[in-house]
Amino acid sequence: MLDSTVAQLARALAARKVSSVELAQGYLERIARINPALNAFITLDPDVSVAHARAADARIAAGGGGPLTGVPIGHKDLFLTEGWRTTCGSRMLANFVAPYESHVTAQLKAAGMVTMGKMNMDEYAMGSSNETSYFGTVKNPWNTALVPGGSSGGSAAAVASRMLPAATGTDTGGSIRQPAMFCGITGMKPTYGLCSRYGMIAFASSLDQAGPFAKTAEDCALLLNSMVGHDARDATSLERPREDYTRHMAAAPADPARPLEGIRIGLPREYFGEGTAPDVLAAVEAALAEYRKLGATTVDISLPNVNLSVPVYYVIAPAEASSNLSRFDGVRYGHRAAHYDDLLDMYKKTRAEGFGAEVKRRILIGTYVLSAGYYDAYYLKAQQVRRLIAEDHVRAFRDVDVIMGPTAPSTAFAFGDKADDPVQMYLNDIFTIAANLAGLPAMSVPCGFDGRGLPVGLHLVANYFDEARMLDIAHRYQQVTDWHTRRPTGVTA
Ligand code: GLN
Repeated sequence: MLDSTVAQLARALAARKVSSVELAQGYLERIARINPALNAFITLDPDVSVAHARAADARIAAGGGGPLTGVPIGHKDLFLTEGWRTTCGSRMLANFVAPYESHVTAQLKAAGMVTMGKMNMDEYAMGSSNETSYFGTVKNPWNTALVPGGSSGGSAAAVASRMLPAATGTDTGGSIRQPAMFCGITGMKPTYGLCSRYGMIAFASSLDQAGPFAKTAEDCALLLNSMVGHDARDATSLERPREDYTRHMAAAPADPARPLEGIRIGLPREYFGEGTAPDVLAAVEAALAEYRKLGATTVDISLPNVNLSVPVYYVIAPAEASSNLSRFDGVRYGHRAAHYDDLLDMYKKTRAEGFGAEVKRRILIGTYVLSAGYYDAYYLKAQQVRRLIAEDHVRAFRDVDVIMGPTAPSTAFAFGDKADDPVQMYLNDIFTIAANLAGLPAMSVPCGFDGRGLPVGLHLVANYFDEARMLDIAHRYQQVTDWHTRRPTGVTA
């Protein structure tokens, strides 16, 4: 039962084959057994989780449950969750208890989901390996000597190791999709603005987007149904009619053997070049062959400016971060240095103690590119190139329905491998960042393994607001493959 998908759990709960309390207790028992080896959770509060579950059971018994009522979920520790400690993986917020609930988690709670805990992450969501968390590294469940990816590594590792059926994450430059690949699960980010950022601790506000992790695309669609929605407290939240992201999956195709007849897949030549591990490319090519069998056609395309994604991102994201993180001053939130001379000294010591090295690096870069002498040369130029990258995609989507490639150039790497070389670390996001710069929906789907038995992810990017179709394109593939059902071998449940 604990290995089931969200959709299966919801059916079992509705049919009263299992209670939410039984599920919560079952997962808590598994967490107690497995989490010490993986460190995927920062905070657990079993009594609160079981109380949530009891309330969900009462709601189901009264006939008031919905499609997610009673299903357990974990939240990346940058979503404010009322009454729960919310650390953002930082010493700065190590004792910060959220006074209110984020819009995304509030909606999942209102749907009856059971909060199981707060998930480990890179400090302030800055990283691709979960090595920057103040609360220690998260281990990859396929091989605990390797990183789980980042920054939402705790969420990905917990779902992959079956400690949770689902979790939330956030994606600023790949932080849902890259750990989803490294851990062998499905993760997606919607179009920028669909999920409210209210109550999500900000990293780079023009790029940050919440999204779900689960085993399947169908589960991601179910979760997304309850995560999106207009919220006046986020000025970039979009007002759109509600839609059912499972609607394409639920429809029977004209030819069941070729459900993707007519779908055109764009293959950017920039994403199939040197620098990607041959095993990763081979798994992606095999997935594309599967897609052709399902009726889709593949088209070679070009996104001429995407090779500038990483440098553009590493100007814009730190610029926004340097501004967002100025609020952590020892006065309003979290940590304050114990000893200081005057106000300025208090700011300096608090921030020196509260932030880790990667966060400080980003604040320094951001402050530099925004400074009077360099603003035009760096920040403004990066904004201009960002527009060109978005336009490349708009043009491509006139001819294709979805863009595919590898999620990351390599499978999971070892702790310490890239930690001393920020540029090598940053390059791991080379395929995921453009979707954030353009604000497009994107996801990673398990599509095979490399020679060492580590999961490979297929990356899908769709046009604005086309997530229902993108999720269906992933779903049809998962119906004829079983990569997403494979369990990690590095830990035993
Ligand atoms: N790895 C990227 C970074 O370090 C992306 C992080 C994210 O998406 N939150 O900024």
